[in-house]
Order: sequence, then structure tokens, then C-alpha cells
Amino acid sequence: MADPRGFLKTRERELPARRPVPVRIKDWKEVYEEQDVAQLQRQAGRCMDCGIPFCHSGCPLGNLIPEWNDLAWRGDWRDAIERLHATNNFPEFTGRLCPAPCETACVLGINQPAVTIKQVEVTTVERAFDFGGVEPLPPERLSGKTVAVVGSGPAGLAAAQQLTRAGHTVAVYERADKPGGLLRYGIPEFKMEKSVLDRRLHQMTAEGTRFRNNTTVGVDITAEKLMKRFDAVVLAVGATVPRDLPVPGRELDGVLQAMDFLPPANRVALGEEVADRVTAEGKDVIVIGGGDTGADCLGTSLRQGAKSVTSLEIMPQPPADRAAGQPWPTYPNIFRIASAHEEGGDRVYAVSTTEILGDEQGKVRALKLTEVVRNDQGGFDPVPGSERELPAQLVLLAMGFLGPEQQLAEQFGLETDNRSNIVRDRSYMTNVPGVFVAGDCGRGQSLIVWAIAEGRAAANGVDAHLMGSSQLPRPIEPTDRPLTV
Ligand SMILES: Cc1cc2nc3c(=O)[nH]c(=O)nc-3n(C[C@H](O)[C@H](O)[C@H](O)COP(=O)(O)OP(=O)(O)OC[C@H]3O[C@@H](n4cnc5c(N)ncnc54)[C@H](O)[C@@H]3O)c2cc1C
Ligand code: SF4
Repeated sequence: MADPRGFLKTRERELPARRPVPVRIKDWKEVYEEQDVAQLQRQAGRCMDCGIPFCHSGCPLGNLIPEWNDLAWRGDWRDAIERLHATNNFPEFTGRLCPAPCETACVLGINQPAVTIKQVEVTTVERAFDFGGVEPLPPERLSGKTVAVVGSGPAGLAAAQQLTRAGHTVAVYERADKPGGLLRYGIPEFKMEKSVLDRRLHQMTAEGTRFRNNTTVGVDITAEKLMKRFDAVVLAVGATVPRDLPVPGRELDGVLQAMDFLPPANRVALGEEVADRVTAEGKDVIVIGGGDTGADCLGTSLRQGAKSVTSLEIMPQPPADRAAGQPWPTYPNIFRIASAHEEGGDRVYAVSTTEILGDEQGKVRALKLTEVVRNDQGGFDPVPGSERELPAQLVLLAMGFLGPEQQLAEQFGLETDNRSNIVRDRSYMTNVPGVFVAGDCGRGQSLIVWAIAEGRAAANGVDAHLMGSSQLPRPIEPTDRPLTV
């Protein structure tokens, strides 16, 4: 185990410093500074190697956390990355972007601050890249079987890497010009620089995975052709249909879905020219929705030079600590401060938009909102007399996603459930033999760590379908849900 007295000697939880706000909002680089390695190792040494490591079940990938905490504490980075990669294809993504449900399930977290698991994870993989410990792992033998993966987000990439390494010939079809899914054009550079994604894609290409970008399955190549051309197909097309806001004024110029705002912003941040893109510069911006997407709109707007940014959330402000009904080791709904929140803007809770107001040219000029309270049916009632206007020249809708686009499912002849997600069985296969599903398009809008776990598990299903049995790991069942209340 890591230092047997570590958690007694080092009681503080130490994380790397975030770059000063006035500096970091002037660029798009990642927010965190590098952490002193000795400090990180002391933190890894706080892991108690407790009898039942609840962090394992907190992590959807089942990451072997106490094992690599111990190896990191000893400075054995080579074995540490080997243990980390045993369960996670892309620890550099999760180590930056995961909300770390492992940490809220950490046993030390019962009466002390939890071990900085996510930070040990990202440091381990970054050191491994630095010393050349992340090499391509091409298969020794080819199976002669072919697989098409549709969609190159974390689910598609994980499935493709697992299947390529198992010896199958894998082509990843992506409608965007570059692979990565939301990792590339949804998540901003200040949360994860795209060079981190490209570095992993180089490894995958060297292993033999082929990428077919700018190809929309269902349009450029039909479902029928794809199924004929390949022995199996994995759909990992994400949950891309956004929830809308059906209020008067929704059609006004300057009211945008977050995913119509973030991708062009990300492209411009990387030096590309984007014609007619909408910018927050000099504007009062209102972001409706308080999740990851909302925080990304906030950080992006501030970097573009917004005059003000206000984030609206219909739910009341969560408590600072675990509520009684959300005990350890569940992932509690508490007030969290993402790096973007630290950078500016106001967060307004328990409000609902009633109307969006425009000027004579049809451009948004303000938003009308009312305070709300929860009613007995689980809905929200307006508080009489609380209606007010907030000025806005840009309104961004970040209220979540409803599921995958239905046309593709229809073309493949796939069954969908009442939430419009694609139905799959325990092996991640749909009602069409040989067609599998992984990630947000099967699970519904979720997280990167779940997408990777799904991609790995679906690869096991595909491999077993093609070969009769499979040695590939299967971290989760399609029905597994997070340790949330
Ligand atoms: C703005 C934003 C920020 C987020 N931040 C975080 C975060 O910080 N941490 C976290 O854990 N999660 C975050 N999430 C959620 C996370 O990004 C998703 O859960 C995850 O990316 C889902 O992975 P996926 O592979 O299933 O789908 P996606 O990443 O959505 O990838 C799907 C891919 O399929 C492609 N595609 C779709 N249809 C076709 C077609 N017909 N032909 C070819 N290609 C197609 C799409 O272009 C896309 O590249 C965020 C989501 C958003 C929107
Ligand atoms: S992937 Fe997420 S939950 Fe799993 S160990 Fe890393 S930070 Fe924790």
C-alpha cells in the first residue's frame, strides 16, 4: 500500500494552482499549472489501501485506484501507467475532465478531504507520455474481420482502440472534419487543449485504426452499404439533439443553442477563420442552464470579452455540503465552483425564463424571468410579483440534450426507447444483428468516463459476436447507473 501513515502525516488535500484569472482569461490555454511532483506523491501517499476500495465502484471504469496511487507514491511511473491503462484507454481525458465520482466515494473522504485521485491519474499519464511510456500497441495477428465505428467521441474512440488491438480492421467514420466528438468541438481549449487529443489519435493511427472524416453515415454512405461492407458496426453518434426553450421570442436573432456557439468559438481559439460566427464580445450574455455546457459557455464568453455574463438555473442553489439524503459514497448534489465560475459572471438560481424580448430589428435585447418554487408534483410555480427583465444581446441555451438524431436509427431500422435512445441488449447489440451501440446515443446524455466505459464494454460485445468469445474487458452493463441519489 501507499505510505501507511500518509493520511495521518498529510491531512491537507493539495491540488495544483489555477493560473491567475486576469492572465488566463486573456488566452485559451488550460487553466491549471503543473503540480510539484513531490507534493503530488505525498497526496498519492494519503491513499489508505482500505479493505474495500469504494473508489473502484465510484469510477465507472473500475480504475484500480489504490494500486496506482501506491505506484505513484513510490515513483514507479512505468508500472503506474500500466495499471492505469489496464482499465482506461484515455486517462489524460478523464484526468482533466471527469467530475471524479471516485473521490466522493473515497473512504478517507468520510472524515477527511478525499485523496486527489483525478490529479494522480492525469499526472501519471502525462509523465508516461513524457518518458515515452505510451507507445502504439498494434495487434500481433489480424482476425480478418472488419468493424465500422460511427462517431469519434470518447465512446467511439475507446471501442475503436479496443477492437483494433484485438486484431480487427477498424474504420472510424466521423462527419466532422477531425475526430474527437465533443472532446474536440464541444469542450473548450481551456479545459483540455486539443494537442492532448491529437497525441492520442497519433497512437491510434499508428496501431492501425483508420479515420474517415467528413463522412456522414446515412448521407455519404447509407446504413445498408455500411452493414454490407463491414462485419460489424458500432454506433457511437452521441446525444446531439438539444433541449429547446419554447417561450415567446425564442426565434430572435442572438438566441442560440450552446452547441451553435461553442464549436465555432473553439475553432477560432485554434486559429481557424469562421465566417459569420457569433461572438460574445462587448455583449451582456445570459446562459440558461447551469451544467458543464453552461460553464463552458461562461468561460468562452469571458475570454471573448463579454460585458457581463449571467447564468440562470431553474433549480435552487445546492447546499455547500452533502444533504442528509445523499450520504457517502454517493455523488452528492452540492454547490460546485468550476474554473469558469471563478473567472466571473453571476449565477442566479430558482428562476425560469418567461419571454425573450427583441428590438425593432428582431435582435434580442432582454430576457424576462420569474423566480420559481418547487411544487408538490415536482414542477415549478412562479413566485407572484417576482418577474423582472435582464438586459441581453446574446442568450445561450445550455439545457441539456434529448438524445440521438432519429434519422440514422430509422435508416438502420433500430428500436429506440421512450427517451429516444437506441435500445441495446446486454452485449450492447441493437435489434439489428451485428449493429452495436455505445455512449450517449444508447445511455442518454452522460459523461466522458461513462462513454469510455461503454466503448470498452461494447468492444467486448462486438469481439464476442465476431469470434465466439472475447478476452476484452467489460467494465459496465448497459443498465449501470452512477452512484448518484
Ligand atoms: C459543451 C459540453 C461540455 C461537456 N463537458 C464535459 C466534461 O467536462 N466532463 C465530462 O465528463 N463530460 C462532459 N460533457 C459530456 C461528454 O462530452 C459526453 O458525455 C461525451 O462526449 C459522449 O461521448 P460519445 O462518444 O457518446 O458522443 P460524442 O462525444 O457526442 O461524439 C459523437 C460523434 O458522432 C459524430 N456523428 C454523429 N452522427 C454522425 C453520423 N451520422 N455520421 C458520422 N458521425 C456522426 C459526431 O459528429 C460526434 O463527433 C460535455 C458535453 C458538452 C456538450
Ligand atoms: S476516470 Fe473519473 S471516476 Fe475514474 S478514477 Fe478517474 S477521475 Fe475518478
